[in-house]
Amino acid sequence: MAAALALTRRGHSVTILEAFDVARPVGSGLLLQPSGLAALRALGLEDEARELGASVSRLEGQDLAGRRLMAMAYDSWRPGATGVGIHRASLFGILHRAVLAAGIEIRTHARIVSFDRLNDPVLHDEAGGAHGPYDLVVVADGSASTLRARVRPRARAPLYPWGAVWANATDPDGRFAGTLSQRYEAASMMTGILPIGTGPDGEGNQVSVFWSTPRAEIEALLASDITVWRKRLIGLWPEGEPIFSQFTSWAQFAPATYRDVSVGTWSNGAFVLIGDAAHGTSPQLGQGANLGLIDAVELAERIETPPQLFGYQLARRLQTAPYQLASRALTPLFQSKGWIGPLIRAWLFAPLAQAPGLRRIAALFLTGVFRFGPTPKVLKP
Ligand SMILES: Cc1cc2nc3c(=O)[nH]c(=O)nc-3n(C[C@H](O)[C@H](O)[C@H](O)COP(=O)(O)OP(=O)(O)OC[C@H]3O[C@@H](n4cnc5c(N)ncnc54)[C@H](O)[C@@H]3O)c2cc1C
Repeated sequence: MAAALALTRRGHSVTILEAFDVARPVGSGLLLQPSGLAALRALGLEDEARELGASVSRLEGQDLAGRRLMAMAYDSWRPGATGVGIHRASLFGILHRAVLAAGIEIRTHARIVSFDRLNDPVLHDEAGGAHGPYDLVVVADGSASTLRARVRPRARAPLYPWGAVWANATDPDGRFAGTLSQRYEAASMMTGILPIGTGPDGEGNQVSVFWSTPRAEIEALLASDITVWRKRLIGLWPEGEPIFSQFTSWAQFAPATYRDVSVGTWSNGAFVLIGDAAHGTSPQLGQGANLGLIDAVELAERIETPPQLFGYQLARRLQTAPYQLASRALTPLFQSKGWIGPLIRAWLFAPLAQAPGLRRIAALFLTGVFRFGPTPKVLKP
């Protein structure tokens, strides 16, 4: 939707082809970084996101002994800077309303499964419908993309060995406001609370809670007795009790798995991959949606007629590559069994939490604005 908006505003005529029967949000909450907020600003949507979301000024992680393993403040990057935790339904609603207001056609129930040629392609959906031909196809079908392997046959997107379960709840007294809080036990237990502002029915003080788990164990967890898990969680993190006690059924939770996407060149003929379809990662650094929003705005900025995609790809890779590399390297330090991951994590992150110079570099990375090469003016936070 962000790409459709950005391209429409540049005078292109855009149709959105969406697999769902009815356009709808998926998942619980996410953290918008200053980089993603700048992309929303370019689309005229930042204020609404800030209004519906919750300001997040710090990221803080402790082990069960109360040792601070992670402490990063947006302030260390720029005084007054914040991220915004937001309910996925809110972000979806903001983009969806803007798409409708811009008169962009959304064809739902259009799961695209194939196309007939790389240039001037006609796309085919699973129900036998045909769409196109189009001058440009922006492939934004996520990390489990169907079209990626057809556009770039050598692309790879293996699943990470760990995933998570997520649910939303209310933080009744707002005690977790302003901070993405995490708790760790070695690297085999990680749980977190992210404030996400207003829920879809207008309820305030919403938070997303996640619980990390090996992918192979997600099904068994969701079939287990939730009261046993809840008791363990409250024992590990007593301050979260008012939130965790709202979890009475696994039906409140959504499972999530992640892919490590590597594609080489993102385009072929009239096709260009963006978002998770091009560079999906584990959500450990909270950057995926932000990078996708930036892709959308930067694509519209850099595209030419007829479409020339080389400059766009080069510029974007100078930002996405460092985040993908960092995500690959850091994920096992937070999601793995054994003692090596936590040991490296303590060695790596403790100085980051303490030394001001290092704190600033870490904050620059956290905000999502890091990139080699210049940031287009319209995306400057
Ligand atoms: C648990 C979890 C937590 C996360 N937390 C954060 C965070 O805090 N901050 C952050 O920035 N990112 C976060 N992310 C990552 C973020 O969710 C993704 O990077 C982002 O959603 C990618 O957006 P996208 O538009 O590329 O793909 P998606 O959001 O996956 O959207 C793909 C769309 O394409 C449609 N589609 C799929 N296949 C087809 C098809 N064949 N034909 C037509 N339509 C199709 C789908 O229905 C969907 O609407 C998190 C991810 C997970 C799993």
